[in-house]
Amino acid sequence: MTRQPLIQRLCVIGVGLIGGSLARALREKGEVAEVVGAGRGEDNLRVAVRLGVVDRYDTDPARAVAGADVVVVAVPLGAIEPVLRAIVPRLSPDAVVTDVGSAKGSVVADVERIYGHIPPNFVPGHPIAGTEKSGVKASFAALFQRRRVILTPLAETAATAHRLVRKMWELTGAEVVDMGVRHHDAVLAATSHLPHMLAYTLVDTLARLDDRAEIFRYAAGGFRDFTRIASSDPRMWHDICVANREQLLEMIALFSADLSRLAEAIRDDDRAAILATFQRAKRARDNLYLD
Ligand code: NAP
Repeated sequence: MTRQPLIQRLCVIGVGLIGGSLARALREKGEVAEVVGAGRGEDNLRVAVRLGVVDRYDTDPARAVAGADVVVVAVPLGAIEPVLRAIVPRLSPDAVVTDVGSAKGSVVADVERIYGHIPPNFVPGHPIAGTEKSGVKASFAALFQRRRVILTPLAETAATAHRLVRKMWELTGAEVVDMGVRHHDAVLAATSHLPHMLAYTLVDTLARLDDRAEIFRYAAGGFRDFTRIASSDPRMWHDICVANREQLLEMIALFSADLSRLAEAIRDDDRAAILATFQRAKRARDNLYLD
């Protein structure tokens, strides 16, 4: 007897890097019978069909969710509210809805505004995996392997919906962890959102210098490593800044104070303070499991 796949009809709204990679991974495992894609532009969706990432698509997300047992909203954070608003009246009664947004407080607030409460079949999620590339062409099935996926279920979240979303992500090879919404946003502000602000600002500062051509000509590997993430989609990161404003501002303030202290140490020729900063950082970096 053949085993049923975990998901009969998966609807992915936003078939880009994350949504496309999830669909690919589930297909590769044979854990989804049909994938329906949705997005604004037909170009990307046609490519998604051609690459075998989705079986069919609809540019109207409300039509795309019809009959889906799992709906994954994988659009930029600023588009989540309008997308949810559009699909809610057309969802199957038992459909489980999840998202992949990089901040969670704003998504939960969007959901509360739309429903007036938290529906039991909604499970907020965030895969801690990605690249600086966008669109379905950048997607690949192995993206989530040995990566973490954070779920931030709420008191109202049904255990069955939570279990299904957890299982879906585990099938991609990810380790799934649960976290509170605020805690998630604080942790991600520190580990992901702040570093993106630093990379974008550094490149922007240098790119506006008069002798920028000369400067970039001599940029070595370290500069490339540090600034790779400044190639990420500006609109996506704009949305993340707006969505996680408070937590991000706290981290920027903390970092700015430390950078000012380092500048003071350099100005005052306080060599002990400079060395102590770098030694602390090196020790911390060497003890991190990052690769
Ligand atoms: P992406 O590659 O640009 O994919 C987003 C997709 O959403 C696009 O294919 C776009 O297709 C579609 N889209 C955009 N606006 C839409 C709208 N208003 N209605 C319907 N579809 C829309 O971006 P991504 O990197 O996969 O990011 C998607 C989500 O994952 C974001 O919320 C992001 O915060 C989160 N995330 C990203 C990463 C990362 O490293 N990239 C990691 C974890 C989580 P059309 O242009 O055809 O509409």
